[in-house]
Amino acid sequence: MRGARILDAGKIETRDYPDPTPQGEEVVVRLEAAAVCGSDLHGLYQTPGEKKWIPGHEGAGVVVAVDRPRVLKVGDRVATSAVFSCGVCDLCRAGYTIYCRQPRGTYGFGLDGVHAEYVRMSERSLLRMPDSMTFEQGCLVLDPVGTPYHMYKRTQTTSLHVVGVFGAGPMGLGTVCVGAFLGAKVVAVEPVAYRRELAKKLGAAEAIDPAAGDVVRQIRDLTNGYGLDRAVECSGEAEPLAWGLELVRHFGQVAIIGERQESRINPSNHFLRKEVTMSGSTCFPLQEFDELARMFERGLRAAQMITHRFTVDQAAEAYATFATKQTGKVIFVPKK
Ligand SMILES: [Zn+2]
Ligand SMILES: [Zn+2]
Repeated sequence: MRGARILDAGKIETRDYPDPTPQGEEVVVRLEAAAVCGSDLHGLYQTPGEKKWIPGHEGAGVVVAVDRPRVLKVGDRVATSAVFSCGVCDLCRAGYTIYCRQPRGTYGFGLDGVHAEYVRMSERSLLRMPDSMTFEQGCLVLDPVGTPYHMYKRTQTTSLHVVGVFGAGPMGLGTVCVGAFLGAKVVAVEPVAYRRELAKKLGAAEAIDPAAGDVVRQIRDLTNGYGLDRAVECSGEAEPLAWGLELVRHFGQVAIIGERQESRINPSNHFLRKEVTMSGSTCFPLQEFDELARMFERGLRAAQMITHRFTVDQAAEAYATFATKQTGKVIFVPKK
């Protein structure tokens, strides 16, 4: 089969790999859609050194081979999750397999992932898709739809809320799309014009450019001085978290989805005197998959965030295109 291989920073090729064969609880999935994630870009493609596995963790496809499965069978349509989990620890049992205490590895980060024609995965890492869910929807569930949805549940966001979404990369675009679907008024903040336009298409009421002037002022003006009920940091940059904490109202909530190792906060102004709640998340518990599927059935337009489609043989072009930021979600689809 054909699959991608990252050779060094900014260097990726497509090569031949042996066809995978399932063992024990593993199954082989023929991929019908597989997305490139920001973490593939920043964690793998833009870091030095060869990555000796196939990248990619956001996929959807059809089971084509099994060994001794408990649940899945050939022909099942499935979406992938990233972690080869133990399945028995407290976090796995709570549905948070991504936080498994004894994971056996992560697909796309050490274990062969989904930027290939086929992937071999533990059936525990696969979610059976309802017939109503398309493969393109399925490859978006894992990160850009599922993570924001879980965040909105945790922050009890409703249609009465004004939500600021900072950063409109794929995760921010998903946050815009799901937030608008829930009925909230969404204001996106994004420096790249292409992504601001896409945010509007996905349901943002406004999309502002931080280069056009003080962001706190811009959002206050747009909301007649109201500010935000919820601020969602999706950019991984330093300033937006401070903007969000500043703009959120008393008893408001700030959620972090963008990865970042350090940030400055002002405990006195933001927490003591406004009683703001802050949280973060990087996944959804598996039992919410059903709710995600029903959201698609009810018309969630998240697939509109897909702007570019490539075959696995075009992996170099796909990654280079995504790196320009002039994209929404970039995905791999099979050769026609
Ligand atoms: Zn991802
Ligand atoms: Zn576990």
